[in-house]
Amino acid sequence: MIVQPQLKKALLSFYRMLASALLPLTKEQGALICFLFHSLFESRAEVQSGVLDPQQGVTVEMFRAFLSHFQEQGYGFVSPRQILEGLPPGGKYVLLTFDDGYGNNLRALPAMEEFNAPAVFFISSDHVREGKAFWWDAAFREGRKRGKTEAEIRRTVAGYKRRKTEDVECDLKKELRKDALRPVGDLDRPFTPAELREFAGHRLVSLGNHTKNHAILTNYSLAEARKQIQGGQDAIQQITGKIPEMISYPNGNSSPEIQEAARESGLRLGVVVRGGKNRLPLKFEVPEAMTLKRFILWGDYGIDAQCRVSRANISLNRFLESLKVRASIAFR
Ligand SMILES: [Zn+2]
Repeated sequence: MIVQPQLKKALLSFYRMLASALLPLTKEQGALICFLFHSLFESRAEVQSGVLDPQQGVTVEMFRAFLSHFQEQGYGFVSPRQILEGLPPGGKYVLLTFDDGYGNNLRALPAMEEFNAPAVFFISSDHVREGKAFWWDAAFREGRKRGKTEAEIRRTVAGYKRRKTEDVECDLKKELRKDALRPVGDLDRPFTPAELREFAGHRLVSLGNHTKNHAILTNYSLAEARKQIQGGQDAIQQITGKIPEMISYPNGNSSPEIQEAARESGLRLGVVVRGGKNRLPLKFEVPEAMTLKRFILWGDYGIDAQCRVSRANISLNRFLESLKVRASIAFR
């Protein structure tokens, strides 16, 4: 069944209503809920600034509201290390994850300290080493300047996601400008190596692998994917002295072979981009521990409402399957 935008919106609101209505009947204990963040913005005006692809458009204030919701509901915020040591199965837990390695992630620290909430930051190590902008931000920024619509930009980005990072970057430099991948300022740049070293020493911070060059691993040969994963491990260790234990596959793309390759590089946990709860006790095996489910939080919908949906025991994918709607349709 092809889902039109209007129907998609209606289905999503119905799902959210249903999940929220079922929440009082839900047994919440015995689950780990993971969340994905990218950039943290100071304000809604900054989200709209056009400097970078706003992605979820989450502000620091929304992040704080999110932490407050789960604290009030008696959830424990946990680190990858605590997960590996084994979470008591009667509890309910949240893992915070940030992908890519944006320098603006430093803005998360005050709220993390206030709520004593650890988080794992998945770093694309070439971006840190070379100080280059993320290609999707360059594509977004230039697309905007040239008067492209959001839909046109999304289509271009979707096409690029089927290719290797190196090829996309080469094309962007040719099509736009030689310096298209130079960050505009503090908002869109990655961590500097010095910042990352200091950040990694914070008691609430863990670093994770996001490959060497933000490689969407399914676009690479297995040998190349191995190099991307191991290269990320080596670089993070060289920059910070820490060795990641968890991977976030760029764009959520992995395969059983890629998960096995990650294990061979010493990674013991992995996250994908598919909403849902992870039931306890976790099985530390492939694929379970290497494909933990993860919700995305959006800035354009109520934070409390999204938190409630994630706590309910009804997954969006199962809901769609029950309606015979192709589950591969990605809702934002
Ligand atoms: Zn990423």
